[in-house]
Amino acid sequence: MVSEQWQFGVSYFGVRNPHHFRADLEVIARLGFDYLVFTFSEHDHRFYQGSVAQCVRLTQQRGLKAYVDPWGVCGIFGGEAFSERGAWDLEGQQRRSDGRPLPLLCPTSAEVRAYLRQWLTAVAEVLQADGVFWDEPHFYLPGGESRRRGLWACCCPRCQQGFAARFGQPLPAQETPEVRQWKEEAIAALLRELTAQAAAAGLRNTVCVLPIYEDPQAFAARLERLAADPHLHVLATDPYPLYHRQPVAATRRFCDALRHVCRRFHKEAQVWVQGFLVPAGEEAQLAEEIRLIAASGIRNIAVWSYLATAYMTSHACADPDTAWAVITQALQEVRQAGAPRL
Ligand SMILES: [Zn+2]
Repeated sequence: MVSEQWQFGVSYFGVRNPHHFRADLEVIARLGFDYLVFTFSEHDHRFYQGSVAQCVRLTQQRGLKAYVDPWGVCGIFGGEAFSERGAWDLEGQQRRSDGRPLPLLCPTSAEVRAYLRQWLTAVAEVLQADGVFWDEPHFYLPGGESRRRGLWACCCPRCQQGFAARFGQPLPAQETPEVRQWKEEAIAALLRELTAQAAAAGLRNTVCVLPIYEDPQAFAARLERLAADPHLHVLATDPYPLYHRQPVAATRRFCDALRHVCRRFHKEAQVWVQGFLVPAGEEAQLAEEIRLIAASGIRNIAVWSYLATAYMTSHACADPDTAWAVITQALQEVRQAGAPRL
C-alpha cells in the first residue's frame, strides 16, 4: 500500500471551464505530475459539480489521479473560499471565548456532519474522484487583534458539555493544554467519521496536517492521532518555511517526524511545497527544499499551486514564472537523478 515510486502533485483551482482546463492538464501532464488536487469549495459544490466532474474525468483519462479538497468548507478546512454554511447554520457555529458567534461550523456539531456527508456524496458519485485531500482541518485560527487579545474557539454549548464530560471540569476561560487536547481529539473524531464514509465509497483518504513550528511534540502528537485512523492512506504536511519566515532547513524536522509516524502506522508520507507568496529572489530556496524533502526519504511531493499561483492576486508569487520554473525543474531533477544525499 505504501508506494516507493515518486508521486508529484499540484493543486488546481479557479478555472471551471473544462475546455480551458484541457490545455492546462496537458501542460501539467507533460511536466511529469502524477496527480491533481482540485479545490471543491461550498461554492463549487453548489454551482460547478458537473464542470468539476468533467475536469476530473479528463484528468483520469490523461492517466493522472484526481483528488478533491474541501477548500474552506464549513470554515474548518484550509483555503481562502468563504463558507456559506458557516454563515447560515447558526446552531452549528463556533463560539469565540468572548462569546461572539463565528461564521465557522464547530467540528463537534451535527450541522458540519450533515453538510460534509452531502459534499462527500457529490465527490464520490458525481465527481467520481480518486480520493479526498482533507486539507488542514482546524478550529478557528485567530489573527491580528483577536490573536493579540488571546481569543480562541470553541466555547459553544457542545464543546462546553463535551469538555466537561471528557475532563471532569468546566471549559476554562483560557486555552489550556487540556482545551488544545480536546480540540485535537474533536478534529480527529470528525476525520475518522469522514474517512470511513469516504473509504466506504471507494475513495482514498489523505489528510494534511498543519505544521506547528513552536511545539514539535504537539506536532508529533497531532500526526499520531490522525495516523491511527485505519481508513487513512496518506498523511501529509505543509511546512511552507518561507511563509512562516523560517529557514528552509526547518523542513527537515517536519519530514523526519512525518516519516517516523508513517513508518509506524504504514501510511504514505506527502509533503507540500509553497508555490504562493514567494518573495522575489527567494525562488532558489524552493529547489533547496525539494532536494531536502527528497533526501529525507519522502517520495510524494506536491506544490500549491499550478503556475506558482500566478493568477490569484492575493497569493501570487512576486515572480511566478521563475518560482514555477524552479519548482518543476527541481522535481524533474530528483525524479531523474534519485534522491540527493545531503
Ligand atoms: Zn464548539
